[in-house]
Amino acid sequence: MPKKWYNSKVIKIQNETPLTKRFWVAIEEEESFDFRAGQFVTMDLPIGEKRLQRWRSYSIANAPDGSLVLEFCIVKLEGGLGTKYLFEEIEIGSTIRFKGADGVFCLPQKITKEMVMICTGTGVAPFRSMLFDLQNKKIDHPPIHLIFGTRKSEGILYRKELEQLAKDNPNFKYSIALSREETEDTYHGYVHQIYTKDHAVVKPDISFYLCGWKNMIDEAVAQLIEEMGYDKSQVHYELYG
Ligand SMILES: Cc1cc2nc3c(=O)[nH]c(=O)nc-3n(C[C@H](O)[C@H](O)[C@H](O)COP(=O)(O)OP(=O)(O)OC[C@H]3O[C@@H](n4cnc5c(N)ncnc54)[C@H](O)[C@@H]3O)c2cc1C
Repeated sequence: MPKKWYNSKVIKIQNETPLTKRFWVAIEEEESFDFRAGQFVTMDLPIGEKRLQRWRSYSIANAPDGSLVLEFCIVKLEGGLGTKYLFEEIEIGSTIRFKGADGVFCLPQKITKEMVMICTGTGVAPFRSMLFDLQNKKIDHPPIHLIFGTRKSEGILYRKELEQLAKDNPNFKYSIALSREETEDTYHGYVHQIYTKDHAVVKPDISFYLCGWKNMIDEAVAQLIEEMGYDKSQVHYELYG
């Protein structure tokens, strides 16, 4: 069945880091919009003639709460047509047309295994949706460890609320890896160094969820499956490009 398209209006834009903005849209002419935490939508942006030139996917960064408001966390790519449009043309009141929600990068119906969520930059978006979905629904879960990587502290996304979540929930651990800056309360290095050390001993009751750009995902998949010996079925990922 062809997917339905929605119209939404941009209701808020906030600078999150020098290169990242949060966008909030309100869906119009609908009673409800259902999605599962971790899913994405595909926007049709007026940046090309052919549809494949115009379509760009973005993870929904907020937890499903029955409202018609969606949040996206988007990084501006140098030379990127879609993000140039989003960062330079879009303003409060602009219309964004999208289809979705799509994707299977979601939490299992029942979380029975420990989870390690590994991301860089805006790859944190689907994890934020999942984590706050669990919190909102007061769902008990085995340990979850979110490992977020970026270059410098100015690039850390959603830090305060994720630190608060780790304080409130003893089964949630939050680590930040900064590759190009040393600070007292962050790890100096790459995300890979954290999980390879923590989970060097392979066990069946753990799942790894990866989200972000190709280099990070390729390296993490190779580390986990080829180097460390985890089974393919224990590694799930969402590739941004
Ligand atoms: C399922 C899914 C969910 C996504 N969710 C998000 C999200 O929540 N937030 C978000 O910011 N993005 C997300 N993306 C990526 C997004 O769809 C776009 O690909 C991205 O915004 C770039 O689009 P653009 O039009 O600006 O760049 P394009 O015009 O498509 O490409 C611009 C240039 O960037 C280069 N480029 C491609 N990849 C990279 C890279 N990794 N690093 C540097 N340069 C690169 C290309 O070679 C090209 O020259 C998601 C992608 C997918 C598939």
